[in-house]
Order: sequence, then structure tokens, then C-alpha cells
Amino acid sequence: MATPDMQVPDVDTLPETADLVVVGGGILGCATAFHAASRGLRVIVLEHGRRLGGLTTQAAGGGHRLQFDTPDEIDLLKRSLAEWDAFGDVIGEPGIDLRRRRNGYLWVTRDPARAERQRRQVAQQQALGVDGVDWLDGDEARRAFPFLAPEVVGARSRPADGWLDQLVATTGYARAAARRGASFAFEASVTGFGVANGRVTEVQSTRGRVACDWAVVAAGPFTGEILKLAGVSVPLAPRIRQRLVLPDAPEVPKHAGMTIDEDTGSHWRPEAGGAYVLRPDPLAPVTHAHHDPPATRDFYDLLLDPRSPVRVALHAPFWAEVWARRTQHWYVTAGQYTYSPDHKPLLGPTAIANLGINGGYSGHGIMAAPGGSHLAIEALLGEVAPEQNPFRYDREFSHDGARGPL
Ligand SMILES: Cc1cc2nc3c(=O)[nH]c(=O)nc-3n(C[C@H](O)[C@H](O)[C@H](O)COP(=O)(O)OP(=O)(O)OC[C@H]3O[C@@H](n4cnc5c(N)ncnc54)[C@H](O)[C@@H]3O)c2cc1C
Repeated sequence: MATPDMQVPDVDTLPETADLVVVGGGILGCATAFHAASRGLRVIVLEHGRRLGGLTTQAAGGGHRLQFDTPDEIDLLKRSLAEWDAFGDVIGEPGIDLRRRRNGYLWVTRDPARAERQRRQVAQQQALGVDGVDWLDGDEARRAFPFLAPEVVGARSRPADGWLDQLVATTGYARAAARRGASFAFEASVTGFGVANGRVTEVQSTRGRVACDWAVVAAGPFTGEILKLAGVSVPLAPRIRQRLVLPDAPEVPKHAGMTIDEDTGSHWRPEAGGAYVLRPDPLAPVTHAHHDPPATRDFYDLLLDPRSPVRVALHAPFWAEVWARRTQHWYVTAGQYTYSPDHKPLLGPTAIANLGINGGYSGHGIMAAPGGSHLAIEALLGEVAPEQNPFRYDREFSHDGARGPL
């Protein structure tokens, strides 16, 4: 028998049939399993690894925000945030602690032209229904966030944004799915699909096959490769994204929010006694999917070295003290953003009507997991028509000028 995750039991043997097979036990697979099992479907999750959430989900910053620029994403996030707000009641564990912090999301710039664009962007977000978002000039921003550099000339802020612990969320969804009858198979790597008359008939894995009415692929960076096994092509591109973890950095203000330098893409937030520091490199190449994505130690220098053009000290000078003090307590982890052409997820049925997708969220798969997983199931079951689904896999992809690498 494969190694159990300890959160949910591992099946001894795969069932012969299921209503729905979910491929992948990250946050999206577990949320999908929960929402499907809650509707009475018999669900099995097939997970390549030994743990839930052990690939991309574990590598994330956990951030959630409503500061988006298009109505479809704002709707998706509103639905998701409502579920995060009520998470304990939704999954039937009222006492669960999502370790949620509402410290805000703060996007700062040292460039006057970008500050002007920020001001217009905030006005547009307000018009689209993003409540509580404000634009601040440099002095206003420093009064509210004294750690900001004198060079900062503009900031957009929404104090109700924040972050949560994505592994608490993932395992919470999984336990709740299991209570509703879903089963989980670990070290069960999906290797193919049976397809007949344009429909998936079974999912094949290293632990056996399961005949099914529907399947959903929620395999993070592997989603595109796995769908190809059924002859389905989707426009997804994985790129390596790293995270510097500093467990012990007392210089980091505990009440700071997710603080993003819009001029460089470098960003950070407090975590434990220190911080996470991140930067999605806009020039990072598309790679194949990795089960163990490589992390590089020079990421530390890139973000902290006083000679680096993208160092976080440019907008928050206390980071120069962290560099100067030196510490051996840091490490770099890596995951992959899986990008669609417009950086928004692909949700619902694919070219094979009973084979669904729940992926392609770039850097938003934690925050949007509740709403995205609901919609993926609703669209797969035909409750949401393709023309009502803004995230269908074959939509026309438009590129939004305001969209950064985050
Ligand atoms: C550095 C970094 C920071 C991020 N920060 C944020 C953030 O602040 N906020 C946010 O919302 N998002 C963030 N993201 C994005 C977020 O992490 C992802 O969108 C999300 O985790 C995707 O979840 P998933 O379940 O699709 O993927 P994964 O967690 O990768 O899960 C996919 C699962 O599929 C399994 N699998 C793969 N192949 C097979 C197979 N053949 N058979 C069976 N199983 C298989 C894998 O083992 C894995 O467990 C960040 C990502 C990175 C890399």
C-alpha cells in the first residue's frame, strides 16, 4: 500500500468505477473533489506524490486579493473570498484556523508616470466594484506604512487583502471531501485515458484504472501534459517561480502587508519571525513541468544584495539591514506558475466534453481555488453554458496591458 498522507486515508485498491476522477491532489484537486462530493458525486483523487499540496501549492506565498482589473476575475475572487470567509462552516470544521492575516496588499512605485497609472487603475477598480481600495501619494503612503523609502511616490492599497495557509486549506478540503465519500489514492500517477466515441471512459494510472463518467485534470504544471494523453491540447506554459524564506528576520514589520514593488516585481510579506520574499522573473523561460522544480541560491542575492537592480531595499530600506546583518537562516524553494495566454485560469470541459480542466491560474491558484473549482464542476456538469463561462479553455485570449507578471 502506498504511503498515507495522514490527513485522509489511502485506498487499498482503486475502485472499479467512480462518477468523477480528479487528477492531482493540490489545492485545486482537493477543492474540486470537495465541491463534487458535496453534490453527491462518487469521487476519487489520484495523486502522483505522497502528500496533498506537496508540489506548487506548498511553494506559494498564500496571498489573496480582490485588487483585479477585469469583471470576470473580480467575480471569481469575490466568490472565492466569500468561501474563505466562511471556510470552517463550509467544510464542516468550524474551529479550523486558516492562519489568515488581513494585513493588506500594497503595490508601490518610485516612478511618477507609473504612479499616475496606478491612480487611474484604482479609480477603475473602484468603478468595477473593488471595495476598500485606495490610491495614496508618497507622503500618505509613508504615513500609513513608515517602512517605505522616501523615493516611493505612489501606492495602491487594499487593507482587507492578505494571505492564508494554503496547506491548511488544501487538507481541510480533502478531509471534508473524504467525509462526503471521496477517496484518495497516493503514488497513483495518471498515465493515460480510455477514450471512446469522443468521451473519456476510464482514467489509467500506475495503481490501476478507474472507469468514470467525468474526469477533471487539476495537476498544476502537469495539466497540459496530462490532457495531451487524451489527445486534448490546451495553451498552458509552466515557468519556474522561486520563494526566499527567511524564518528569522526581526527587521521585518509584523503588521506589513504583501508589499509589491511595481517597478521591479519584487515583493515580500511577513511570515513567522521573518518573511517570504518573491519575484516572478518576467524573462523566465517556459519549461517542462517539474516534480521537483530547481531552486537557485542566487535568488537570495538577487533580492537582497545592495548591487541588485531589483533588491527589495529600493522601496523598503530596512532590507539593507537584513543583508548587512547576515544570517544562515534562509532557504529558497521553487514551484511553477502555469500560465494561459491571458494569465487567467482554464475552467470546465475541454474538447472532450466529459474531461474537465481546473488549472492555468498563474499566481492566483490559492486565492481563486474556491470559486474556480465551483465553476469548473458547474461547467463540466453542464450547469453553466460555455458562453456564460468566461474561463472556458477555447475562449479568445486578450492581453490586458495592466497585467504584470504577478
Ligand atoms: C513561488 C510561487 C508563489 C505563489 N504565490 C501565490 C499566492 O501568493 N497566491 C496564490 O493564489 N497563488 C500563488 N501561487 C500559485 C499557486 O501556488 C498555484 O496556482 C496553485 O498552487 C496551483 O494548485 P494546483 O493544485 O493546480 O497545483 P499543484 O499544487 O502543483 O498540484 C498538482 C498536483 O498534481 C499532481 N500530479 C502531477 N502529475 C500527476 C499525474 N500524472 N498523476 C497524478 N497526479 C499528478 C502533483 O503531484 C501535485 O500534487 C504561487 C506559486 C508559486 C510557484
